Amino acid sequence: MKHTIIIAAAALCCVTSCTQEQVSQKAMSQVGFENVRIQDAFWSPRLENNARHTIPVCIDQIENQTGRIRNFENAAKREGQHSGIFFDDSDVYKAVEGVAYSLVNNPDAELEKHMDEWIDKFAAAQLEDGYINTYYTLTGLDKRWTDMDKHEMYCAGHMLEAGIAYYKATGKDKLLQVARRMVDYMIETFMQADRHWVPGHEEIELALCKLYALTGEQKYLDFAYWLLEQRGRGFSNLAQTYGIRHYQDEVPVKDLREIYGHAVRAMYLFCGMADVASYVPNTGYMEALDSLWEDVTGRRMYVTGGIGVAYRTEGFSAPYDLPNYDAYCETCASIGMVLWNHRMNEWKGDAKYVNVLERSLYNGVLAGINQTGDRFFYVNPLASRGQHHRQAWYGCACCPSNVCRFIPSVGNYIYGTSKDALWVNLYVGSEATCRVGRKDIKVKMETGLPWQGTSRLTFETPMKGNLRLRLPDWAQSIGITVNGEPAEHETDRGYAVLDRRWKQGDVVELVTELSVKPLEADPRVKEDEGQRAIQRGPLIYCAEQIDNAENFQDIAISAQTKWHEQPVDILGGITELVGQQDEQTVTLIPYYAWDNREACEMRVWLPWK
Ligand SMILES: [Zn+2]
Repeated sequence: MKHTIIIAAAALCCVTSCTQEQVSQKAMSQVGFENVRIQDAFWSPRLENNARHTIPVCIDQIENQTGRIRNFENAAKREGQHSGIFFDDSDVYKAVEGVAYSLVNNPDAELEKHMDEWIDKFAAAQLEDGYINTYYTLTGLDKRWTDMDKHEMYCAGHMLEAGIAYYKATGKDKLLQVARRMVDYMIETFMQADRHWVPGHEEIELALCKLYALTGEQKYLDFAYWLLEQRGRGFSNLAQTYGIRHYQDEVPVKDLREIYGHAVRAMYLFCGMADVASYVPNTGYMEALDSLWEDVTGRRMYVTGGIGVAYRTEGFSAPYDLPNYDAYCETCASIGMVLWNHRMNEWKGDAKYVNVLERSLYNGVLAGINQTGDRFFYVNPLASRGQHHRQAWYGCACCPSNVCRFIPSVGNYIYGTSKDALWVNLYVGSEATCRVGRKDIKVKMETGLPWQGTSRLTFETPMKGNLRLRLPDWAQSIGITVNGEPAEHETDRGYAVLDRRWKQGDVVELVTELSVKPLEADPRVKEDEGQRAIQRGPLIYCAEQIDNAENFQDIAISAQTKWHEQPVDILGGITELVGQQDEQTVTLIPYYAWDNREACEMRVWLPWK
């Protein structure tokens, strides 16, 4: 295995602004959540709801309604029963990760203390050799590492992600150290012992790459690469129920060309592959990921950025098979699309990935949670007869805990930096400290998106270098000015590149035209024949029966429909679209906001006459 040059483990020295990414082939590196303060009319209330409602819901479920914390307490004593599902530890770690992100924008000393107490319980449940997993500790350690589909490494991966996030947010490294001991133990048990292991649910690979980026320790990257290379070589005992394709274990991962199997597993796998490939040359992963990306976005993705249609397998069916009423579109899979496209963009610096990321984020992901932040969708159909509703929790709670950790992490996706450039990927009101070359650059962004199209970036410190502004694919026209004057710029892979010496106080304004766009599906998607979906800015819209009581069954739109954009004070403040043609009126709301009022029918794809 060839190694890239590594900058020593200086990363552990400080948290705020000097996080030192390892040398890699990445076009850009994200500016981490810990350096971004969100101040945004659209996102700040969501982060607040996450802090006020989603996190408390998760804590209540973990401590009171289910036995998840008790499992750790019992494991520490090595006695008592395990309750729940064998991967339930992961939800606890995901909640801690969510709290870590949340503390940056919504500091809460009491909540932090609460998490410190949980972390003490995790540490107490860790065995002498470093192993930690409450399911096997309580049901029989002799059986650990016998069933690759029992998610031991999956849980470890989530613990590691939580440990890293908590360290970055608070400077406290206890959980990180617990997770590292588990990782070191796994490295000895598998990679160093030449013992094959194929994790039945990917996740550890991407988490190991985060640990590598943080510490610079080569063995973590090596282990991630080693685990990826275990797949598809006949080493696994997976498969009895769903077959090895379900686990992406049919061929070596570099030979993957089409997505199949379980959607969330696939997303986490692709994240790990992109991460490893951005550090290790000649893996063959780039060819695989390019082809997989074309397959997913060209043939298998809903207009909401959701993926995975099949209920039984939480996975894929035939290309262009995209049923609306029966869409599966797990919330976690949309989150996975954000995570994967983010990594593809970091690696290649191409806005096409952010266009997809944004689609999944504002539609597929945001639909996963209600307006107040305390009810969740697992399955996200694009049409409903009125029987599909968000729930307070799920027996398999991957989605609620994933939403809990994802929403407050949105700061990760806004800015990127490279040696000589600052990249703006998403337009979200925020203040950030971004390391460009060797200088910390402070910027402030204000935006009216997703409702109004003006975004403004102010330099609060000077910068020498390029400013790269993503040009959203939904904008009909885009104007850019610097200090009020039209700005000359080149375009590179979907970014406007503005090259100049930036002074303190320079203001860059990007005006994107938000217009109502009827979208037509690929003709091979039979389900959407003769219909259109409506998009405005990054948002996909839908019709709910409650707004169209008179004529829901007869709704039709056409090229002659006149659209009025109407800011209204419902559903947390939205811009409604009212379409008029002849005598008929149709009212649309953003898809993410559906099922927040009384139960009723909903459709994204509408008949087109
Ligand atoms: Zn899920």
